[in-house]
Amino acid sequence: MDIKLLKTTLKNEPNFRFKQTQKAVFTDLIDDWSKVTSLPINLREKLNKEVPLFINGEIYKSKDEKTIKALIELKDGLKIEAVLMRHKNGRNTACLSSQVGCPLGCGFCATGMAGFKRNLTAAEIVNQYLFLARFLKNSFKEKNKITNVVYMGMGEPFLNYENVMSSVKILNDKELIGLGARHISISTAGITEGIKKLANENMQINLAVSLHAPTDKLRSVLMPINKRYSIEKVLDAVERYIEKTGRRVMFEYLMIKDVNDSPKDAKKLATLMKRPLFLVNLISYNPTNKFEPSLSPSVKRFKDILEKEGVAVTQRHSFGRDIKAACGQLAGKKNK
Ligand code: SAH
Ligand code: SF4
Repeated sequence: MDIKLLKTTLKNEPNFRFKQTQKAVFTDLIDDWSKVTSLPINLREKLNKEVPLFINGEIYKSKDEKTIKALIELKDGLKIEAVLMRHKNGRNTACLSSQVGCPLGCGFCATGMAGFKRNLTAAEIVNQYLFLARFLKNSFKEKNKITNVVYMGMGEPFLNYENVMSSVKILNDKELIGLGARHISISTAGITEGIKKLANENMQINLAVSLHAPTDKLRSVLMPINKRYSIEKVLDAVERYIEKTGRRVMFEYLMIKDVNDSPKDAKKLATLMKRPLFLVNLISYNPTNKFEPSLSPSVKRFKDILEKEGVAVTQRHSFGRDIKAACGQLAGKKNK
């Protein structure tokens, strides 16, 4: 949904029309202007021609219907994906992409391996939300609202900062989607300029940082961007972010078998993470190519060491392995 385009299309209409159309798009989640019977027929036709609501997507569901993946085709034919995770307690998290592909090429990530095509516009980011929100509303009688949004799909959000923040503002705007800032999270591979800018936004959104290794040597192998933004630089930027915002920061740590999951790695990680408002989130690795997920005893041992050292730790289980719901697995293949 391109809000600017909607505004220009309505420029000769009375002011209340804009409110009406916003409600239709963001609250009623309609996918065709013909259904908005409160609008005059000729305006519905004009809107269908100039600001069409149709989003070209396909849905893939996991067997348990807890994970729903949308593969969306953009106007230029490129494909992106967005994932919906339906949690037990009624929380529904939408995971959105910020770019088509990703230029950072992390070795464990299907998006990174597929290369980079382009940045997404704010409208293309918001459309992923709308597509999933419509599906949820039409498919389930209750607990059918998106309650959380994470920018953890394809791409690096801080390499597309302006468009990502415009989309965040649309999600957060009470007149539009009205999702609380505390329910929105952005994950970065550690682009320090983005961390600095976010600290100055004065918004209560959550920051997550993908760490994945306790030493520069290993991190540079897994995440080539570490050569430019070393662990020290990233942690420095995070410290300043915390000073400015007073907000907790989550460090994501993928558990990869025999790569970063030894007790020695856990001890090194603990020395980095034993700071106020730092939280470590251990993530199960969704196998994409050469790496394998850590076995559960190693994960337990790793977690125990961190806890014993006084580090705050949580654990995230993977969702939707049967539909390849990890970052970039499906769209990556189709864009080749
Ligand atoms: N580019 C950003 C945000 C998108 S990736 C970033 O890297 O943080 C979102 C998260 O998914 C990151 O923590 C990333 O490391 C993780 N991820 C990538 N590939 C994965 C896989 N195969 N299994 C599980 N998590 C993966
Ligand atoms: Fe890009 Fe994030 Fe994947 Fe790395 S993990 S390649 S930064 S999307």
